[in-house]
Amino acid sequence: MSQTKNHIQNGSCPVYKKCGGCQLQNLSYPEQLRFKQSKVIKLLKGFGRVQPIIGMDNPYHYRNKVQAAFFTNRQGRIVSGVYQSGTHHIVGIDSCQIEDVLADKIIVAVRKLLPSFRLTTYNEDTGKGFLRHVLVKRGFATNEVMLVLVTGSAIFPSKNHFVKEIVKQFPQITTVVQNVNPYRTNLVLGDKQTVLYGSGTIEDILCGCRFRISPKSFYQINPVQTEILYNKAMEYADLKGNETVLDAYCGIGTIGIVAAKRGAGQVIGVELNGDAVRDAKQNAKANGLQNIRFYKGDAGAFMQAVAEEGEHLDVVMMDPPRAGSSVPFLNALIQLSPETVVYISCNPETLARDLHYLQRHSNYRVRSIQPVDMFPHTAHVESVVLMSRVGSRQ
Ligand code: SAH
Repeated sequence: MSQTKNHIQNGSCPVYKKCGGCQLQNLSYPEQLRFKQSKVIKLLKGFGRVQPIIGMDNPYHYRNKVQAAFFTNRQGRIVSGVYQSGTHHIVGIDSCQIEDVLADKIIVAVRKLLPSFRLTTYNEDTGKGFLRHVLVKRGFATNEVMLVLVTGSAIFPSKNHFVKEIVKQFPQITTVVQNVNPYRTNLVLGDKQTVLYGSGTIEDILCGCRFRISPKSFYQINPVQTEILYNKAMEYADLKGNETVLDAYCGIGTIGIVAAKRGAGQVIGVELNGDAVRDAKQNAKANGLQNIRFYKGDAGAFMQAVAEEGEHLDVVMMDPPRAGSSVPFLNALIQLSPETVVYISCNPETLARDLHYLQRHSNYRVRSIQPVDMFPHTAHVESVVLMSRVGSRQ
């Protein structure tokens, strides 16, 4: 990234303070990387050497998933934007330096269309009104775009005309979904969904594999850095061709599918979210893989069942959410005793907690730690860690 661009954009966001989403915008990008590197070192240095963090060449507009909340202000004007960090207050924005540019444009266009279709915004206090949120997901490699309209009720007057109009303005949109969320909840998406246009899913390509993405299933939000992260995870897994690999917390199966494609003997994936598991199964098929199976369930309970059946695993790749893994999972991991464990984490605090547990209760030791900047301008940092048993490797 050129210094000029960095200089111009650095801290230039007009809602930097109000929004609070980009906690590090006051720092230049090289300073942000140094900040993250020292955070990881501080938390993990006791376990092993921390490699230099891998940053982005262009750390802007990297988010492939953009979400906007809608409301009508006291002057009767419709506002769309993001929640102020840690609050329920919406900060009106039309564009954001870390979000996909096209996604932002689509959200503004939806907002501008609402009055002419006499569509209202949802009012959280009364529970009345129509549009709550708009979610846009874009496959950067395929250019497919999904528009999800989250509404307070199922009734969507002149929906066909609305969809026709927005698709006319943005032919890049390949599918439109209505998600109904009538609940008084902080969750963006409700349970019921209707496909209004296209297939209801989009596809993206990562590490040469195609992935189907549903409105609700987790997909990494920075695909450029995800490829770097997965390649590092595969390097750590060091697959020779006949290993049994477990992809725990597998989402739509991305890591397991890349592992299967790169020569794993067989792969098992486990994931709590049913939609993601459905996508994972479909993704395995679409990539022509027969040596991979996916299960829906809690990763900890699943690992315990695998351990009780006395099955053998060579490599466990685990990628839990921010809360980290669980004691039942880690205990079963110790019992199963795979040769190699690759732990991918989006939260170095819970990572440190889990590594500490493994170090105390087993002879697993950390061999390498690689931080990757998946979320430039925010304080978040991703790490991938290689572990193996004492005496088994290196
Ligand atoms: N490995 C995937 C997803 C990582 S995000 C990828 O790289 O895209 C973490 C995933 O863990 C989410 O899909 C979430 O639904 C899932 N998850 C959360 N708690 C879980 C649990 N207890 N058991 C299994 N999966 C869980």
